[in-house]
Amino acid sequence: MTRRDGFLLRLGDEAGRVGWGDVCPLPGFSPDTLAEAESSLRRWMEDGDDSALTPSARAALDGARLDLDAQARGVTMAEALRSGAASTVQMQALLVRDDPADARSLRAAGYRAVKMKVGGDPRAAAARVRAVADALGTNVTLRLDANRAWRWDDARRFADAVRGVSLGYVEEPLADPSRLPDLVRDTELPVALDESLQDLAPDDLARHGYAVAVVLKPVVLGGVRRALAWADAARALGLDAVVSGAFESGVGTRHALALAAALGGGPAGLDPYRRLAADVLAPRLRLDRPVIDTNEVLIPRNVEMI
Ligand SMILES: [Mg+2]
Repeated sequence: MTRRDGFLLRLGDEAGRVGWGDVCPLPGFSPDTLAEAESSLRRWMEDGDDSALTPSARAALDGARLDLDAQARGVTMAEALRSGAASTVQMQALLVRDDPADARSLRAAGYRAVKMKVGGDPRAAAARVRAVADALGTNVTLRLDANRAWRWDDARRFADAVRGVSLGYVEEPLADPSRLPDLVRDTELPVALDESLQDLAPDDLARHGYAVAVVLKPVVLGGVRRALAWADAARALGLDAVVSGAFESGVGTRHALALAAALGGGPAGLDPYRRLAADVLAPRLRLDRPVIDTNEVLIPRNVEMI
């Protein structure tokens, strides 16, 4: 990936306040395109009917409204989303290279959750996972993401080869998600749902109790309030709810951070933001630390649009 396209939604209120939303469907992942999001927002500007907004358009409007709401009430966006929100958010670190030395550095820096992408030959992947897990030691959760890379046999091989390794979960190990319950039953691999959520509603989660967690991307799910509803449904069933970024600008990343704080403080997968070469906010959000102070990042006067 070398380019990220999107646009900003600017929403004003009667008091002259301005709230910002980030319209940024992720190509290859979001159900809508940027052009579809734009035309749905233009229709909404004419008729005010928000029922036809695409998920990323809805996410932008939801975020801009949250921004306005927080300013009007004089609280952070996290507090506006849910009173009693955490004042700090733990960050999950993404292991860019599968290098145990990098894993040791992240542990030493104080990260409590590390994410690693997996796929390809299942036994080679399992060997890399073992080496990283050994380097992380105890007290650091290792989360894996396969992005539906494996067919059944390969997922089985991987699960067998990582038996005994302490894993938080593996996101979407199967190309065919309908077999996830079988995989969990046969191997006890802890599984998390990410891509699968696009085809579900929060009420459907009861049929997915085999999973240990859901990964919530507000951009994909239609905004932070919908993601919050997902989280509440998941937790009622005993599943963990983990917030994840999708290469939003700082505007959308602040909304995702507010959601993570509203849900108790992470660890949240907001490190995609750090991969962007530039941002629309100045100064850039400082997310290159294991623990983020939400007051520092979520109070509007601390950042400017450029
Ligand atoms: Mg994922």
